[in-house]
Amino acid sequence: MNKKLDLIRIQNLNKCFEYNQPQEILSLAFKEFGKDMVLGTGFGPSGVLLIHSLSMQKIPIRIFFLDTHLLFSETYRLRDELQNRFNIEIEQISPDLSLSEQAEKYGDELWKSDPNRCCYLRKVLPLKTYLSDKSAWVTGVRRSQTTTRNQTRIFEWDPLNEVVKINPLANWRNDDVWDYINEHNLPYNPLHDQGYPTIGCIPCTEPADSRTERSGRWKNRNKIECGIHIPSQNFQNGNHEN
Ligand code: SF4
Repeated sequence: MNKKLDLIRIQNLNKCFEYNQPQEILSLAFKEFGKDMVLGTGFGPSGVLLIHSLSMQKIPIRIFFLDTHLLFSETYRLRDELQNRFNIEIEQISPDLSLSEQAEKYGDELWKSDPNRCCYLRKVLPLKTYLSDKSAWVTGVRRSQTTTRNQTRIFEWDPLNEVVKINPLANWRNDDVWDYINEHNLPYNPLHDQGYPTIGCIPCTEPADSRTERSGRWKNRNKIECGIHIPSQNFQNGNHEN
């Protein structure tokens, strides 16, 4: 794929679609990229919304999640529920290293000693490998989630994975997403009702006050992203293991 052509196309798409509903953005994106486009989800409410929207529109793209092997049992149960309800298969993308191989190579509980490396091995690299033969990936990233995401565009070039990144909910707020979930009676991770604003790997997720939508992830550390949604300016600074 020609990156220069993609950047021009991305600019034009953003001009046209900034104020469109996610359903329209997904439909347009499917016309542009077809089955070379995939949806990645961590099973947060934004991902559930997008799965519902794809299903209602019968857009037959592949859906995947990054299985770090450190996810909550509630997350796997939500995955199963979504698969059954929408009659879909959600691909499980795993790291090259098992947890025991990682411990042998880098020491026990790498998430404590070097969480950036742990995220890199268990999320960033598997994603890069998975996307290597794709043209575009759809995410649930929204501007209101964190300061690092507040410049998110609907269509972006993802320099790490060299694909177009599509964020149909970029201009949605948390309340908008929960209104949609409730209105359509969609399932969600029950841990949200137990004080978890956001849910990732077990060792790096805790209940928290909802000061920000990402509160409770890597608590007491200077880390708010695993690295798969790193802003392009950080990537250019060579900070791609964050
Ligand atoms: S979120 Fe924590 S456990 Fe999961 S990959 Fe990153 S550092 Fe490792």
